[in-house]
Amino acid sequence: MEQVTFKGLTFVPFIKNEEIQEQVKRVAAEITRDCGNDFPLFLCVLNGAFVFAADLFRSVEFNTEITFIRYKSYEGTQSTGTVREVLGLNESIEGRTVIIVEDIVDTGTTACQLIESLKAKKPKDIKLATLLFKPDSLKADIKPDYVCFNIPSKFILGYGLDIDGLARNLKDIYVLSEQASE
Ligand code: IMP
Ligand code: MG
Repeated sequence: MEQVTFKGLTFVPFIKNEEIQEQVKRVAAEITRDCGNDFPLFLCVLNGAFVFAADLFRSVEFNTEITFIRYKSYEGTQSTGTVREVLGLNESIEGRTVIIVEDIVDTGTTACQLIESLKAKKPKDIKLATLLFKPDSLKADIKPDYVCFNIPSKFILGYGLDIDGLARNLKDIYVLSEQASE
């Protein structure tokens, strides 16, 4: 794995795809144990979570469905602090277990806003599964139920995560070089 450059910024290898796949399988097993008999609905938060969601969804073997919503909060490497719903949920979730699939929980603003809006639709239960969690950045009053990796508050990309739309197709995860040794 080599370093990569996007938008004039250099990123260095952080988490290899093999390690990601191991943790996806662990989380899939936890979800199977907890929700496998519930016919849960996976709810993938676009755009960033689509790569993780595809691997996670194919790692569970119970009867299930997936749908998609789209939220947007980041510009460049900074959170804007406000979250916009760009694509909403059409399905009924009344009485169902919903498993939110996020790429990353940073301040928790996106996940918190989503959970509040889902609660009004009377689901049986809401679980939050995230590939990455930055516990030191958390501001919202939420806690992910399933986490592949806890990471420090550094800007990362790859495996679905982007910088202004770029780098989502990298198989591994990279961290901003100037933050790598902080
Ligand atoms: P939050 O609302 O602050 O928890 O941020 C959630 C969203 O910000 C995520 O779904 C990502 O799209 C984006 N985000 C947060 N941290 C990073 C990062 O390090 N790299 C790329 N996107 C990020
Ligand atoms: Mg996202």
